[in-house]
Amino acid sequence: MPLKILVTGGSGFIGSALVRILINEYDHDVINIDKLTYAANPKALESVESNNKYKFYECDICDLDMVKEIFNKEKPNKIMHLAAESHVDRSISSSLDFIKTNIFGTYQLLEISRNYFNKLSSDEKNLFTFHHISTDEVYGDLSLDDPSFTELHRYKPSSPYSASKASSDHLVRAWNRTYDLPIIITNCSNNYGPFQNNEKLIPTIIRKLFSGEKVPIYGDGNQIRDWLYVNDHAHALHKVSIEGKIGETYNIGGNSERTNLEVVKEIWQVLKNNYSTDLKINDDFKKCIEYITDRPGHDRRYAIDSSKISNELGWKPSETFASGFKKTIEWYINNIKN
Ligand code: NAD
Repeated sequence: MPLKILVTGGSGFIGSALVRILINEYDHDVINIDKLTYAANPKALESVESNNKYKFYECDICDLDMVKEIFNKEKPNKIMHLAAESHVDRSISSSLDFIKTNIFGTYQLLEISRNYFNKLSSDEKNLFTFHHISTDEVYGDLSLDDPSFTELHRYKPSSPYSASKASSDHLVRAWNRTYDLPIIITNCSNNYGPFQNNEKLIPTIIRKLFSGEKVPIYGDGNQIRDWLYVNDHAHALHKVSIEGKIGETYNIGGNSERTNLEVVKEIWQVLKNNYSTDLKINDDFKKCIEYITDRPGHDRRYAIDSSKISNELGWKPSETFASGFKKTIEWYINNIKN
């Protein structure tokens, strides 16, 4: 059944993939609330901009009056909350915006949602969910032989970013337990795909290799991340918002653990195999990278156990690491060239 879904942060990397999928594949009406920070990419929404199922408000989630007005005017059936400051390096050099948006902004949305929810009819209440989109980084890191993060893993965030996301997860759970607000939380691993901001790892690697510059590698490059194609994440989010159990948490991952060094090598290999006539890719991988001082507090390993969402909701990623990376690299190369 097509619904009216209010998405926060819909102009960002994951939010824009989600908005495109909600409209084009599921026929939902989408209201996007986004402050349009440096991380937003309005180009990512060009394909739905003129669709009458899409509506945009340039709005800070911390602006209580404006968000309240949007809720009352648009009367959404569901909230999918993605708006956040999301870059770990920025959270280390300047953490205030992370506290404001990720913690205070989430608090404002919870309060507005609680008041809004209390006034809904019982049919509307049955439909309503506040879906908070979070990260696997709230669990801290793992050593090489630790089992992957399940939903029961304790929280032990390392960076100002992950601590701010952990705080917001706690607030969301508390609003369920204390006020019976119907919430769901998802914690996802690293995403990759089209329209990601240039400062993130994958676009940086592709841009640097493309222009013949060395790729900077933090520390020894052996930090392990689990990688998921962004559209797979968006499909999982839709499934959870529609079919997930109220009050529950679902971990979402790609079953694709790789060290950062392996990721750079994989991209270098794809570029060398497919674009060597266009590009000057050095045949010696070691000459394409430079090791730089490690990020303070850098987590060693993240790994997600997605068996709950897979067993209970029947979700699994449709892209493998190889197929998703090939698509992503093709997209960036076409965009850099044009
Ligand atoms: P992003 O940085 O690309 O986009 C964030 C969006 O939020 C931007 O459009 C920005 O303008 C908007 N925004 C920021 N502050 C705002 C505010 N105060 N009010 C309204 N809008 C605001 O982030 P992303 O990578 O798309 O991540 C989206 C969500 O998913 C975040 O909550 C993040 O923590 C979570 N997440 C991301 C990843 C990943 O790999 N990128 C993995 C797991 C979870």
